[in-house]
Amino acid sequence: MTQQADADRTIRHPRSHALFEEAQTLLPGGVNSPVRAFRGVGGDPVFIDRAEGAYLYDVDGNRYLDYVQSWGPMILGHVYPSVLAAVEETARRGFSFGAPTQAESELAKLVIGSVPSVEMIRFVNSGTEATMSALRLARAYTGRSKIIKFSGCYHGHADMLLVQAGSGVATLGLPDSPGVPAEATAHTLTVAYNDANAVEQLFHTFPNDIAAIIVEPVAANMGLVLPQPGFLERLRELTQKYHALLIFDEVMTGFRVALGGMQQRMGITPDVTCFGKIIGGGLPVGAYGGRREVMQQVAPLGPMYQAGTLSGNPLAMAAGIATLQELRKPGQYEKLEQKSELLGEGITRVLHDTGINAQLQRIGAMFCLYFAQEPVTDYASAKRSDTALFSRYFWEMLARGVYLPPSQFEACFISLALEDAMLEETVQSVEFVLRQLA
Ligand SMILES: *Cc1c(COP(=O)(O)O)cnc(C)c1O
Repeated sequence: MTQQADADRTIRHPRSHALFEEAQTLLPGGVNSPVRAFRGVGGDPVFIDRAEGAYLYDVDGNRYLDYVQSWGPMILGHVYPSVLAAVEETARRGFSFGAPTQAESELAKLVIGSVPSVEMIRFVNSGTEATMSALRLARAYTGRSKIIKFSGCYHGHADMLLVQAGSGVATLGLPDSPGVPAEATAHTLTVAYNDANAVEQLFHTFPNDIAAIIVEPVAANMGLVLPQPGFLERLRELTQKYHALLIFDEVMTGFRVALGGMQQRMGITPDVTCFGKIIGGGLPVGAYGGRREVMQQVAPLGPMYQAGTLSGNPLAMAAGIATLQELRKPGQYEKLEQKSELLGEGITRVLHDTGINAQLQRIGAMFCLYFAQEPVTDYASAKRSDTALFSRYFWEMLARGVYLPPSQFEACFISLALEDAMLEETVQSVEFVLRQLA
């Protein structure tokens, strides 16, 4: 990073800088979730004051087109009128009761009506809780202990899922973070994304011990890695053959790549699906759901214990219901697809014209521009990206009013609030910045 660029940043963000200085004395790293600290790109994060539609406004009065969308939930854009109205109206009747409300069934009906594999659902408060509970459910249902996850897939921060990304060969899990005892990940088997042969090997080795495979059907936490043709199909076949459950973690892809998520796009039926992000419309929520016979294991109907003081919280349910009602209107996903295409074609043309060697990977309303020489298919190839180049790109885009995720290994999101003119403006910014970097 040049000194000039550093100086520009301080001039543009003096209040953010001051607030970050204070926050660092109070919160570890100044944040409540690590990527927010901008460590992936170096420098201080911008502090947000408010948002509306496609835009974020920071505390220094800068305006940005938002391609982060709170890491996925804000697919309608910020402060969407019907969602705001629903939350305001609900708040007047009380924030939380710890007793059943009709809204929980309303949101359940919307999810069940949109995602065919889901016959019953349990709401929780985060994606982390959803995956943690789904795995407990799979273990309860199968009476087995081992699970398979893929390196570079993120399923929240539960101990058993914080496993070192091994590449290539199937490896027995070792903890990724201090504080996770080896025992907690002893049953977690990790293989490379898109490597169905390695999965088959594990089933050969442990034919009666694997409770479930958990997978992001599009890997959206190492940038954006698409499943190769046949990969998810093989996972479905192998789990069926060995009587293990297939868990789709659609916390990111659910209601984003299609109304019915990636499973609808692919025509694959998992046993259990995890949700979060969009189904809470920006309020804290998660959920896991699936086949009735499997979900019947969950307490109090079945013996698998799982509970939550704020689970099914009225405000979160209201925001989720209003969001899904909007998304279920005809033509919404076609619109998202058109926006994604407009942006994708623009960036592809810029890459061609500038001769920059980068990979645009894209599906539905999500994309990632990897500064990598080759297409990215797994965690190992994602890690070959030029993160220093990404970081220059990130800061230049920010200076031009485009807020991207502050890491090469995060996906960018398109919202319905992004108008075609805004997308075209973004392409122009990409062109300007990449010409500078070329
Ligand atoms: C965000 C995410 C999670 C974790 O959700 P939180 O609400 O942050 O706990 C889990 N899985 C996937 C695929 C995610 O993208």
